[in-house]
Amino acid sequence: MANALPLARQAGYQPDRTKETLCKPGEAHVPSKCLLIVLDGLGDRSYARFGHLTPLASARTPALDALAARGASGLYHAGSLGQALPSENAHFAMFGYELCDFPGRGALEALGSGVELAPGEVAVLAHFVSLENVDGRARLVQDLPRADAAEAKACIAAAGTFAHDGVQVRFHQTKGLFGVLVLSGGALDPRVTDSNPMRDGRFLSAVVPRAEAAADPATRRTAAALTAYLRFAHQALSCLPENAARTARGLAPLNGLVSQRAGRLKPVTPFARRFGLKGASLASGAVFKGLAAYLGLDFVRARETGDAEADMFERLHLARELLSGDVGFLHLHTKAPDEAAHTKDPVAKLAVIEALDRALARGLAPFLDDPEVLTVVTADHSTPSCGQLVHSGEPVPLTFCGPGVRRDGLSRFDEVTAAAGALGPVRGTELMALILNALDRCRLAGIHDTPESLDYWPGDFDPFRL
Ligand SMILES: [Zn+2]
Repeated sequence: MANALPLARQAGYQPDRTKETLCKPGEAHVPSKCLLIVLDGLGDRSYARFGHLTPLASARTPALDALAARGASGLYHAGSLGQALPSENAHFAMFGYELCDFPGRGALEALGSGVELAPGEVAVLAHFVSLENVDGRARLVQDLPRADAAEAKACIAAAGTFAHDGVQVRFHQTKGLFGVLVLSGGALDPRVTDSNPMRDGRFLSAVVPRAEAAADPATRRTAAALTAYLRFAHQALSCLPENAARTARGLAPLNGLVSQRAGRLKPVTPFARRFGLKGASLASGAVFKGLAAYLGLDFVRARETGDAEADMFERLHLARELLSGDVGFLHLHTKAPDEAAHTKDPVAKLAVIEALDRALARGLAPFLDDPEVLTVVTADHSTPSCGQLVHSGEPVPLTFCGPGVRRDGLSRFDEVTAAAGALGPVRGTELMALILNALDRCRLAGIHDTPESLDYWPGDFDPFRL
């Protein structure tokens, strides 16, 4: 039986349960709120010009480094390693929702742009482009042609509405030549392929049902309606007087549309119900507004002035106000690193990272000094600032900082240093689970105080009545 005793007892250790084992006042304090700062597309690859470091690792980032030194770091991937995720899919997982339940970017953009989607309607991202006919196949000449507001208006007037086999198709403009196609009327299904090849010079792909829905009549009907619409749009736009004028000026005609990322809204458990925290998103862009509306987060539109440092500083100021109210989880987002990376200039990305760090140096201290706030900094995905990929599949650095968070002694915030951190590898919805854990709100497995399986504890349960 002696072997069953804890090793310390066997060695004669007798704890004094009246003193040393009790926490000192304040020692067990845990934060009650979370600030999640997402530096969009921060992760990158290594480049010879930076001595084989990433832009983040070669940037001067004293504020991020100080944050890492006060907390625990790890490497985060919102999906699985190697998977290249768009921001909206990554954020869906970061907010604690499984990627398989993602409703599609088309549906979120519609929601964020004020387009009402009725149950069953399908929303598809679409924009006007320049195409050419090569032996009956459509080739993308210019994915992003320049156009003024009058030209965009003429395109929408000529090819904005269509009907085929009882399916109504309507183009809702979100900005310039970009918009959302809403398909309505009868049984429809968004499991169709994209036509957008995403790169100039490539051929458009046929719109067909995805393999898992190949036999589904609603999906086939959706693909057929979308195909008929895209053919109609090409014909209608080709006759447009504005395009004749563009051609005469040496500009590519706006003679087609490309489509991608079809989706449909489906029932979802609101964020506050799932996690027991009132959530808010401080971001810009229709897709974030749509995601916030979908999950029940308050949306606070952040300004985009082109000055990454000033914009981040203003966001941090707004974050103080929001977290001093009833917001328990605040998502603070900047897309500046991602946009810099998309210019395919690693030096521009490094400069943006340093600008953001200067804002953090000025604005982060109040959060770190507030015992009620858990500060988490990470990115949604990697965006390589060289090469042909849009986004890439490497994990990104993640740091937790706040009362009770383990300190791992790392003194740098970058993609390689973080691999040695105490958080280890963190994936998908684990981020939200770790946040609940750090706020002392995680549920002990097997405990059921509500009929639903909620992520947080204690749940919003009905009291036992006598
Ligand atoms: Zn991007």
